Amino acid sequence: MAGTAVRRRLTWRLATVAAVTAEARTARRLSLRIDGWEGHLPGQHVDVRLTAPDGYQAQRSYSIASAPGSTTVDLVVQRIDDGEVSSYLTEELRAGDELELRGPIGGYFVWHADLDAPLQLVAGGSGVAPFLAMLDHHAATGSGVPVRLLYSARSLDDVLGRERLEQHAGRGVGVTIALTRTQPPGWAGLGGRVTPETLRDHVWPPDAEPRIFVCGPTTFVEAVADGLVAAGHHATAIRIERFG
Ligand SMILES: Cc1cc2nc3c(=O)[nH]c(=O)nc-3n(C[C@H](O)[C@H](O)[C@H](O)COP(=O)(O)OP(=O)(O)OC[C@H]3O[C@@H](n4cnc5c(N)ncnc54)[C@H](O)[C@@H]3O)c2cc1C
Repeated sequence: MAGTAVRRRLTWRLATVAAVTAEARTARRLSLRIDGWEGHLPGQHVDVRLTAPDGYQAQRSYSIASAPGSTTVDLVVQRIDDGEVSSYLTEELRAGDELELRGPIGGYFVWHADLDAPLQLVAGGSGVAPFLAMLDHHAATGSGVPVRLLYSARSLDDVLGRERLEQHAGRGVGVTIALTRTQPPGWAGLGGRVTPETLRDHVWPPDAEPRIFVCGPTTFVEAVADGLVAAGHHATAIRIERFG
């Protein structure tokens, strides 16, 4: 039985695009229907494979942004300028189209709702995608674990899942957004890059023994992880996912 499940996860299969919705200025949420989807854990990802008419194939990984048990499996894709796959997914893909994917993949960068430790999420750019799944799962399971999200984005227009994050803030999740490039007039959040001071002020302190997830571009993730260790957090409490 377990062998069947493992084989199935690694097999390419077809997903049908149920909807494509704007998630931010340059990001789209792809809601997928996948026959026989066996479920996933918040933090897991899938591999997506595109095939051109001449047979050329390109493959990329995308975090699952919807909670386990959702009616669709959602990906949130940020368009990268000149990006081969993200440009197609955000600009060309339409409801009714089919995609090849395999997954769910990953057992390390996963939040288990029965974990008692405070949850700390630190995201750079599209690195917030797996955290959208974790936060929705946290809400759906009625978890009493305290959660904080520290999220670095270029501008307010680049913040993914803004409305949903506001809803999570309304139910007690600590949401801190740092806008690195432009801040709108009257912006009450943070400006500039995440610094050691930001980590000190907006991350659960080491003595709270949080489980920390850090996700985003490689340079962001490495700088944050180094900063957290320098601030006294145990390296083993920190789980990182690099988007490359
Ligand atoms: C486990 C995992 C999960 C991921 N989840 C997501 C997700 O949920 N949402 C999402 O939007 N992306 C996610 N990514 C990144 C994604 O896999 C692609 O790398 C990204 O969409 C760019 O692919 P592309 O083909 O458009 O760009 P490419 O054609 O591969 O690259 C174009 C240019 O952009 C640069 N580049 C590539 N990736 C990035 C990046 N992430 N940030 C900045 N510059 C980049 C390249 O160096 C190159 O110069 C994830 C990556 C991993 C490994």
